[in-house]
Amino acid sequence: TAQFDINQIRQQFPALAQDCNGQPLVYLDSAATTQKPKIVIETIQQYYSGHNANVHRGSHTLTAAATVQFERARSTVQQFINAEHHKEIIWTRGATEALNLIAQTYARQTLEPGDEILVSELEHHANIVPWQIVAEQTGAKIVKIPMTADCRLDMDAFHQRLGSRTKIVAVAHITNVTGTRNPIEEMIAAAHQYGAVTVVDGAQAVAHEKVDVQALNADFYVFSGHKIFAPAGIGILYGKKALLEAMPPWHGGGKMVEKVSFEGTTFSALPGKFEAGTPNVAGSLALAAAIDWLGKLDHLAAEHHIHQLRQQALEGIKDIEDLRVVGLQPDASLFSFVVDGVHHQDIATLLDQQGIALRAGHHCAHPMLDALGLAGTLRVSLALYNTEQDVERFIAALHKACSML
Ligand code: PMP
Repeated sequence: TAQFDINQIRQQFPALAQDCNGQPLVYLDSAATTQKPKIVIETIQQYYSGHNANVHRGSHTLTAAATVQFERARSTVQQFINAEHHKEIIWTRGATEALNLIAQTYARQTLEPGDEILVSELEHHANIVPWQIVAEQTGAKIVKIPMTADCRLDMDAFHQRLGSRTKIVAVAHITNVTGTRNPIEEMIAAAHQYGAVTVVDGAQAVAHEKVDVQALNADFYVFSGHKIFAPAGIGILYGKKALLEAMPPWHGGGKMVEKVSFEGTTFSALPGKFEAGTPNVAGSLALAAAIDWLGKLDHLAAEHHIHQLRQQALEGIKDIEDLRVVGLQPDASLFSFVVDGVHHQDIATLLDQQGIALRAGHHCAHPMLDALGLAGTLRVSLALYNTEQDVERFIAALHKACSML
């Protein structure tokens, strides 16, 4: 049965128990990467102490066992996002690699001069730069979906800019700077009316909401394992089967081929076609372990917990002089703020000295920060392992930092 016991949860995360600069660590940077529960760490250790072997080279017992686990992990991911087919789940190094894969296969093959890629202004660089590269290669054009002053997408502008030239709509499910949840259901439906394909960056969403790619009707959906309690170096590209099947391969090498000869090469069926070389088996198993672990928790309780902490943090810092919360979103697990007249990095350094880890800077979202007229923000991002004491420590440390600057 589902349960949510914060003490029991914290005990699962060894990294949270350390001191940082002489004080117990307060980790408020989970949107950058989450800490890892023991089960994930143990999964990696067990794999390398046990079934470690190269997969899909089934000539001995270990490789056969590793292959079964590896493909079972794919099924776990399939169920996690409710993909229709096992082969629609492609292992990548992360969201960034998955987006580049889509750009360099689907987009590069499809786009023609004058075609348009709609990209939101709220995107992480990982969902901008791959499109710029492929636009350069194909003569396609990037069209921006602007945001409003409260850091939401300007949906009137979106509908106006969408048209018969639109071939791809690229948008984050949840933005990493302000936690804005974009209306992707509406955007996907509208894009499909023009025959455009939708690419959803789920890097910030998967840890916080139940994603159902079939209900969303997303054509592509990507995320990184490390933001959902799994290790770095493993991530997911989901694509609809028909699209993936029609796409050319990207990286060439072992496993993605059926038969190689110097006269020509035939490629593997899905998912192998997009998985050249020896994969990160331990990472795949660890991602599946993280998903299983997450699945045993009470999601509503976890989200309620995070929301309470966020309210506590906002309440506790609101009287700080010249502090502004940027584009606050009602249900996000993170928020950004600035203190006018004080550099964000100076505050971050003073917080770090008090054992508080948070992110300061542009959050790999230059266009969004430019639109806000900001060089950077401080970002507090919460996960289910944070506590009221964490937030109290943050509030006190921020007051102290601001009084010193
Ligand atoms: N998109 C968003 C919204 C993100 O927050 C991040 C990570 N900061 C990425 C994409 C890129 O993820 P990764 O670096 O794991 O590939």
